[in-house]
Amino acid sequence: MAEEIVYYCQECDEKITIEQLASLDAGKCPKCGSIEGFSTFPKDSTNGFKDDAVILNEAIFLED
Ligand SMILES: [Zn+2]
Repeated sequence: MAEEIVYYCQECDEKITIEQLASLDAGKCPKCGSIEGFSTFPKDSTNGFKDDAVILNEAIFLED
């Protein structure tokens, strides 16, 4: 397996794996239920890193 990629809820910083992300209900955080989206960086460390962060939100779940 490749290095595991994890994502952080932009609302509560819950850390989830890509597998968990793929199985979320409409992209809602399993912990807080937010659809704020997920980033490869914790929300508190996105300052200055925003350009590099991969932000995922409900939009990708609407794509087929
Ligand atoms: Zn959350």
